[in-house]
Amino acid sequence: MTRPFNFSAGPANLPEEVLQQAAMEMLDWHGSGMSVMEMSHRGKEFISIYENAEADFRELMAVPKHYKILFMQGGGLAENAIVPLNLSHGKSADFIVSGSWSEKSQKEARKYCDVQIAATSESSYFTSLPPTASWKLRRDASYVHICTNETIHGVEFQDLPDLNALGSDAPLVIDFSSQVASRRVDWSKVGLAFGGAQKNLGPAGVTLVVVREDLIGHALPICPSAFNYKTVADNDSMYNTPPTYAIYIAGLTFQWLKRQKAGDATGVLAMEKRNQAKAKLLYDAIDHSGLYVNKVNPDCRSRMNVPFFLRDESRNEAFLAGAKILGLLQLKGHKSVGGMRASIYNAMPLAGVETLVNYLQEFEKKHA
Ligand SMILES: *Cc1c(COP(=O)(O)O)cnc(C)c1O
Repeated sequence: MTRPFNFSAGPANLPEEVLQQAAMEMLDWHGSGMSVMEMSHRGKEFISIYENAEADFRELMAVPKHYKILFMQGGGLAENAIVPLNLSHGKSADFIVSGSWSEKSQKEARKYCDVQIAATSESSYFTSLPPTASWKLRRDASYVHICTNETIHGVEFQDLPDLNALGSDAPLVIDFSSQVASRRVDWSKVGLAFGGAQKNLGPAGVTLVVVREDLIGHALPICPSAFNYKTVADNDSMYNTPPTYAIYIAGLTFQWLKRQKAGDATGVLAMEKRNQAKAKLLYDAIDHSGLYVNKVNPDCRSRMNVPFFLRDESRNEAFLAGAKILGLLQLKGHKSVGGMRASIYNAMPLAGVETLVNYLQEFEKKHA
C-alpha cells in the first residue's frame, strides 16, 4: 500500500517504518504478552523502553551530561507557563517575538513574571527575524526566550544567538517544538529547550524538555508539583504516570533517526542534510514560478514549514482539490496567515517534496 504524502503542520506524518513496527508490536511487545499501552510504567518492560528512549535521544542530539532530559505532558503551550514557573524566580524574562508562537509564549509568561519584549519582527509581518544587534536585553533577566522555528510564519533561526556575545549571561530558552531533531543543536548556547512531540518525534501527548541542571530547583512555590522540573527530574519523569505510549513511539522514532544515512553523515546530521535539500527544492520551485510566492526573507526561511501563496487566490480551492487527488494532503495554510503551507518534517521523504514540486509546475502550466 502506498500512503499519500501528508504535509500537516502537526500532528504530522511519522516514518512508515515506525508505524509498521508499532503495528507489529501492538498486541504483544517483545513477548511480554502486553501492548505497551497496557504496561505498568514502573514495570521492567516499560522502564527499558523509557531508558532506551532517553539514551537514544541523548546520543542522537549529543545532549551533554549536565542536562536532564524530561518527558512531560501539556505540550508546548503548557511549557509557556511551566518555564516561567521554574526559571523566572518571579522576576523578569526577555522575549524575542518572531511569530505567533513566541507571541503566545510572552503573553502566558506575564502571569508569572515581568516580561519585556526585547525585539519583535511584527512590523515585517513576521517575514524576518529581528537582527540580534537590535535586541534590548536586560542585565537582570532570568532567561531569554526565542522560538527557533515559527511553525505558522515559516521563520527559522539558522544559528542560535550567543547571548554572552550580546552582553547577557541569562540562560537561553528555546521553543523547538517544530524543529527538534531536524538539525543539530549547539547546547553550549542553550539553558533549556522544549518541544511537543507531534511535529517531528511522535504522537501528541509527550513534551520533551532538555534542561541544564543548574536551572532545576528554583520553582516558584505556586508551581504545580507535576510541573516542577525538580520533581520531574528526581522521579525520572515518573512522578505521575507519563504518557507511556507516546514515549514508546518517540523512542522508535529516535531509533529510526539513528539509522538514517546521507553520504558520510548519519543520524541527525544526515537528517539535517536531507532537510536542507528538501527545503531548497521547494523554495527554488516557488521562487522560480510566476504563480507562487513565499514572502519570508531567504536568510531565515524555515526548513520545516514552507508557507506560500498563489498570486491568484481565486485558484486556492482548485489547487487544494487537485493536490488531494494526487495524494498531497493538508496543504492549506494556517487560518491566521492564509494561502498554503507545506510542512516537510523529518518523516517527509524527498519523493513527497518532488511530487509536490511537480504538481506546483503542472498546476501553474494548466492555469497559465
Ligand atoms: C505546535 C507548537 C506549539 C504548541 O504545542 P502544543 O503541543 O499544541 O501545546 C508550541 N510552539 C511551537 C513552535 C509549535 O509549533
